Amino acid sequence: MDDLLNALVDKGLRGETPTRDEALAVLRSADDELLDVVAAAGKVRRKWFGRRVKLNYLVNLKSGLCPEDCSYCSQRLGSEAGILKYTWLRPEQAAEAAAAGVRGGAKRVCVVASGRGPTDGDIRRVSRTIEAIKERAEGVEVCACLGLLADGQAERLREAGADAYNHNLNTSEAAYGDICTTHTFEDRVATVKQARAAGLSPCSGLIAGMGESDEDLIDVVFSLRELDADSVPVNFLLPFEGTPLAGEWNLTPQRALRILAMVRFVCPDAEVRLAAGREVHLRSLQPLALHLANSVFLGDYLTSEGQAGKADLDMIADAGFVVEGRETSTLPEHRREEAAGRPERPHERVAVRMRGAGTELPPNA
Ligand code: SF4
Repeated sequence: MDDLLNALVDKGLRGETPTRDEALAVLRSADDELLDVVAAAGKVRRKWFGRRVKLNYLVNLKSGLCPEDCSYCSQRLGSEAGILKYTWLRPEQAAEAAAAGVRGGAKRVCVVASGRGPTDGDIRRVSRTIEAIKERAEGVEVCACLGLLADGQAERLREAGADAYNHNLNTSEAAYGDICTTHTFEDRVATVKQARAAGLSPCSGLIAGMGESDEDLIDVVFSLRELDADSVPVNFLLPFEGTPLAGEWNLTPQRALRILAMVRFVCPDAEVRLAAGREVHLRSLQPLALHLANSVFLGDYLTSEGQAGKADLDMIADAGFVVEGRETSTLPEHRREEAAGRPERPHERVAVRMRGAGTELPPNA
């Protein structure tokens, strides 16, 4: 194991991908080896992201009422899960919610809508929402998550000021038909590619714990690497009552850490984000996960005063990490340079002119 971990660290520090067998060996390592695995992947995490933790805040623009049948999702067609169902928050309502997240320390706001994909009218509404969020919280990053995109929609979101687009691959291509029949893995890949082509930072991740094999997990993470996602949310299944996966409790905290370590080794310089299910599945081992992931969803963990949950901030500080400020870029320089090669948005053209006039760079530039 020592030789394997040394080889993985060397590759990770160079930004290189391990072999599938090496990644599989991480997933299959013994509990006795867990701290060695975390320590090794932690070196790779610190090389690219130091001890910073990026906080993200999710605003649900539209909830439930989806015609798709993703079996893990409480908002799916026919779901009997007891969730809130509502149609489209108004832009000012969404901006208000986002501002609370930003006050709580979030530097990225993720605007999410249930559904197969947006109509052109939805894109107009979300564009107004993005503009409203950015007016209230200058410098905040906005990521849109609206489902499968039609031609031209990614470009319109980018023009409205969106920084990123999230569309998760969720599981391997081979297992995709087991979790959804109303769209395909390839549909999802196409949307991530469209987002990238339009100049949006691609965010795409997975859900672990749906009954998938080790090989499925390796496959989906290698697919994410191939897509070169800038950020990779790692979700752990919350098996909602009223959905087909209600009985799937397949994860242990140790397994969740091994999955995160494997993702870190395969995507060494990507923003790896602890997403849904972190509290339920990592439980008391959450602080160890900060050695692997460099980004955390605050989700609903905000108090009514808009402060990040004290428990989360204490955990970050106690584990020796710091909350990443808006003045710091999340991604390593080579990734930012690559992003700089993507098409400009109108407001970036303005920013470039301002820089030429000696004005301060906008936050996150
Ligand atoms: S398309 Fe999205 S909202 Fe609809 S069922 Fe699938 S994951 Fe849930």
